[in-house]
Amino acid sequence: TALLSVRDLSVTYRERDSTTQAVRGITFEVGPGEAFGLVGESGSGKSTTAFAIVRFLAEGGHIEGGSVAFRGLDLTKIDDEELREVRANDIGMVYQEPARALNPTMRVGMQLAERLPPRRGGRYVADSPAVLELLERVGFSDPRSIAARYPHEMSGGQQQRIVIGMAVAREPDLLILDEATTGLDTLVEAEVLDLVDGLRRDLGTSMLMISHDLGLIASRCDRVSIMQDGVIVESGSATEVLTSP
Ligand code: ADP
Ligand code: ADP
Repeated sequence: TALLSVRDLSVTYRERDSTTQAVRGITFEVGPGEAFGLVGESGSGKSTTAFAIVRFLAEGGHIEGGSVAFRGLDLTKIDDEELREVRANDIGMVYQEPARALNPTMRVGMQLAERLPPRRGGRYVADSPAVLELLERVGFSDPRSIAARYPHEMSGGQQQRIVIGMAVAREPDLLILDEATTGLDTLVEAEVLDLVDGLRRDLGTSMLMISHDLGLIASRCDRVSIMQDGVIVESGSATEVLTSP
């Protein structure tokens, strides 16, 4: 059975004198341990879908209909407290701009420490063994020196690996990556995507990968849906989608 099952989801943005139907009745599923890709041009409704799943829509955004079943729980219906738990522990999110997810004035080791699951015996600090282990998991071979850095002392690719570390610190069942490698150099992008593949393999984390880049999605995902103007116009395996007319 699916881990995430989105059914007939519709999302509208209401502004003072206009209404945008950003997502118009889309249906898709992400299975346990699966990498599922959502592809489409800018403005097709991909980010809105990602934000709607965790009910984190921008001002004016409303879920008009449909359901979002996560492990059988309808996220459109649960109360705010339950939703907070799901966001904190079960669904990780990574966006395009790592800088937006990072605190510029806090050492990255400390930012990771704050995301680790609570434990008995006090808080984690920037160089706790659990933090260094998490840094190694996201591909840093010199975790101690990295833990002491501030975000601005790191490259964009390094920053994004920190953000991914924050997102997987509690080993969520699902990781949503919204244009997570857009803007990175090709080689760095491949490194970050290899990291994501590795996490899926090692932790069994399901991936919902969102991108405007069909080639990227097709090379990294088991199944793909293509969005256009708020609807899914095509779905299939990567090969099917790539070879269709
Ligand atoms: P994407 O990179 O997914 O295409 P955009 O660059 O379109 O996203 O949007 C960046 C931010 O601006 C998002 O937070 C989005 O919600 C917001 N946004 C996009 N379109 C509009 C709009 N027409 N009015 C107000 N905010 C918008
Ligand atoms: P994508 O992620 O595929 O680029 P979006 O979900 O960002 O697409 O946008 C889908 C539609 O919703 C677009 O028409 C966009 O302009 C509009 N939109 C996105 N965010 C907002 C917002 N915060 N306010 C109003 N309209 C928005």
